[in-house]
Amino acid sequence: MSLEQELKEHAGLAAIHEAAAEIRQAASPDELEAARVKYLGRKSELSQLLRSIPQLSPEERPVVGRLGNRLRAALEQAIGDRRQELEGAELETRLATERVDVTLPGRPFPRGHVHLLTQTLWEIEDIFAGLGYRIAEGPEVETDYYNFTALNTPEGHPARSEHDTFFIDGRPDLLLRTQTSPVQVRVMEKQQPPVYIISPGKVYRRDSDATHTPMFHQVEGLAVDRNVTMADLKGTLEAFTKAMFGEEREIRMRPHFFPFTEPSVEIDVSCMICGGEGCRACKHIGWLEILGAGMVDPNVFGFVDYDPEEVQGFAFGMGVERIAMLKHRMTDLRMFFDNDLRFLEQF
Ligand SMILES: [Zn+2]
Repeated sequence: MSLEQELKEHAGLAAIHEAAAEIRQAASPDELEAARVKYLGRKSELSQLLRSIPQLSPEERPVVGRLGNRLRAALEQAIGDRRQELEGAELETRLATERVDVTLPGRPFPRGHVHLLTQTLWEIEDIFAGLGYRIAEGPEVETDYYNFTALNTPEGHPARSEHDTFFIDGRPDLLLRTQTSPVQVRVMEKQQPPVYIISPGKVYRRDSDATHTPMFHQVEGLAVDRNVTMADLKGTLEAFTKAMFGEEREIRMRPHFFPFTEPSVEIDVSCMICGGEGCRACKHIGWLEILGAGMVDPNVFGFVDYDPEEVQGFAFGMGVERIAMLKHRMTDLRMFFDNDLRFLEQF
C-alpha cells in the first residue's frame, strides 16, 4: 500500500467525513466560524500536519503536502458554500420579517407654531410697517462705543450702571448689547434723513426675577426728519397702542430720563383689564407703563454728522415680553422661556 493510500484510509477519511458533516450542519454564521477554526485554524490537526512537512523524509513530503493541500481546499470550498447558503437564508428571513406595507397610513408629525414672542414681534413690526417704518437689524455682540458712548452715555455716566451686562473676556470694549439703540446709530451713520426705522432684536442685562430675564426682546423706533415734534411722537405711539391693544385705549406721557433723548417720557396705556377704573393689575391707578420715548438729544446727532438745526427726531423703545404679558394678562415673564407646551399651545 502506498503512503498516499495509507494516509487516506487511516489518518484522513474518518476525520474528513466528520468535518464535512459539521460544516454542512452549521446552523448559523457563528457555528460555521467555530467549525472553520476547528478544522482549518492554526491549531487544527491539518495545520499541524502541514507544518510538520519539513521534518518528513524526502519521499513523504510531496505526498503529504499534496494531500494536505487538497484537504484544505476541499474544506474551504465546503465552508464557502455553507456560508452562502446561510447568508441567503438570513436574507430570506429578513425580507420576510421586515416587509414594509406601503399601503399603511403614515404617522403624522405634530404641527408646531411660532412662539408667542415671535407672534408679538411680528404684530409690532406689522403695525410700524403700516406707518411707513423700515426694519433695521444689528449685531448682538456690540462695541462699547455703539452701545453707550454714541448714545450720549460716556464712560462713568451713571446711566451705565442700570445697564449692567455681559462683557467678553479679554475684550473690555465688547459686550452683549443692553438695548437695540446701537442699531439707530449704525443706520444714521450710513443714511441721511429722513429716517424711519424700527430695530427689533435680543438684548441682554444682568437681571433675573419674575419680571426680568438675562435675555429679552426689544423693539426700538427712530424717526428723523424736518419739523418733527413731540406731537408726532405722541400720535405715532397712540396709533401703535390702539392697533395693539384696541381702539378704546388711551395713552398718557410722564416725564422721565433717558441719556439719548431730551425731553424723555414714559408712555402709559389705560388699563385694558379695568378700563381705567383701577384694579390689581394696574395697582389701582388705571394706567400701565408700556414704553419709554423722547426727542433725540442733539448730542446724539453730533456723533453721526446730522445737523440738529436742520432735523429733529424722536425715538422710542419697548420690551416685546412686556407687551405680550400685558396683552395676554401674564404675570411671570419666565413662562416665555420655560418651554412648557401646556403654556405655549394656548397661543
Ligand atoms: Zn386696571
